[in-house]
Amino acid sequence: MSARRILLLLPAFALHFTLHAADFDLVVRGGRVVDGSGKPAIEADVAVHNGRIVAVGRVTAKGKVEVDARGLIVAPGFIDVHTHAEEVDEQPRAENFVRMGVTTLVLGNCGSSRLDLGKYFAELARTNVSVNVASLIGHGTVRGEVMAGSFRRPPTAAELARMKTLIERAMREGALGISTGLIYLPGTFATAEELIEVTKVVGVHGGIYASHLRSEGEKVFAAVDEAARIGREARLPVQLSHIKVAGRANWGKAAELLAHIQRLRDGGAVITHDQYLYTASSTSLSQLIPDAAREGGVPAFQKRLAAGEQKSAILAQMKERLTRNGYTNCAHVVITTCKSDKTLEGLSVVEAARLRRKSETLDAQLELVLEIETNGGAGAIFHGMSEEDLRVFLADPRTMFASDSGVRQFGEGVPHPRGYGNNARVLARYVRELKLLTLEESVRRMTALPAATFQLKGRGQIKEGFAADLVVFDSEKVRDNSTFEKPHAYATGFRHVFVNGVAVVRDDKHTAARSGQVLRRAPR
Ligand SMILES: [Zn+2]
Repeated sequence: MSARRILLLLPAFALHFTLHAADFDLVVRGGRVVDGSGKPAIEADVAVHNGRIVAVGRVTAKGKVEVDARGLIVAPGFIDVHTHAEEVDEQPRAENFVRMGVTTLVLGNCGSSRLDLGKYFAELARTNVSVNVASLIGHGTVRGEVMAGSFRRPPTAAELARMKTLIERAMREGALGISTGLIYLPGTFATAEELIEVTKVVGVHGGIYASHLRSEGEKVFAAVDEAARIGREARLPVQLSHIKVAGRANWGKAAELLAHIQRLRDGGAVITHDQYLYTASSTSLSQLIPDAAREGGVPAFQKRLAAGEQKSAILAQMKERLTRNGYTNCAHVVITTCKSDKTLEGLSVVEAARLRRKSETLDAQLELVLEIETNGGAGAIFHGMSEEDLRVFLADPRTMFASDSGVRQFGEGVPHPRGYGNNARVLARYVRELKLLTLEESVRRMTALPAATFQLKGRGQIKEGFAADLVVFDSEKVRDNSTFEKPHAYATGFRHVFVNGVAVVRDDKHTAARSGQVLRRAPR
């Protein structure tokens, strides 16, 4: 009979003695424990058994695995509440995430998720992945399914009912809430009234409303008001995804925006936010093109371009929008992935126009953007934010740090560096170098705060009874190595990462362990 079996059979009075005699699965010894609560670090051992933290303090019993953490920080594994990591089923190691200390991913953001979450969760449980996975249900995904191709209109009563049924199903299957992507097709054509109606279902189940706002630039204040209204009328908390003020003309408005959000809070709104620590966003190149021009898919788009008048109107709108946002060209837009022409990857739109059209005029740039879109589109990085605004958002105690990234395929394309470096960058640049946050506060924003906001119970703190998601790192050496020019580089300094008590990273290397779990919202 194993020691563990004996332990179960012993009466309670013998427990203390028995724990000392029995082995734990893991003891992380002598590290500085930053527990996620924001409290100052303490020197302590952390004992883990059966995937849970069972003791924090001085642990005399031995672990089957002993980890010497002297000189290192021991923190809860980071929770990334804003990812697009749906492909974790095909890339189960999720190495770009775990190598920067992330142990839990929230999928399904910006309105886009798997439609059948129950099925997806079952698949993940079969595949086994290296990280814990939770998901939101994407409003855009549901709307796309139900309204089949015709989006620039309100749903019919029957369609609305069907959307609610699908959202309700997702909530029952454990979705943490709903996400919207109000600059993307088909979500962009949903009115606030539609969103309130479908989101009520989520409120009833105790979920959250996470939104990629209708505007992150000139109309961001109105967009925040809309999100707050949805939260109020559908009775649920609101998460503003990747908070920013984008577009040169809007720079400097971060403090004003936070003050605006605070006034909404004072009026009863429950609002939190997340950000990534880069002044460039990453989305599709088609964001330069008006939604109405692209509505109905590529054939409809091509038809509009073929009609000369419509095409000039589209170009005029594109120019006008750039001007309003303070730009005279597209030098701030860099192509990341382009299936139809890989030679454009890594080039700015200006450079791409020079290469493909032998011209750098704005017309040549925008014509090229339209041409790329008709040939399957491209991903793009928009260098559209100011560092000062980023720091203002960072200072707010309700800002979580989240990557907005998918699982990276090492070496593929020229993606945004945030997928390899976001959490590392918080610790290296903003905590160690710039000292804008304490280590304890930065950890809280990546652990206990997201766990509480997204209701990931029993996660995000180093505390007895909590899941043993742990990261052991060197706060003097930890750094992000991924850059816009050379993105494919893992973060370093994250010595060991444990997911549910199992080492997924050991001595800076992925162990190939797949100990992640599907995290479903606990029913109300
Ligand atoms: Zn988004």
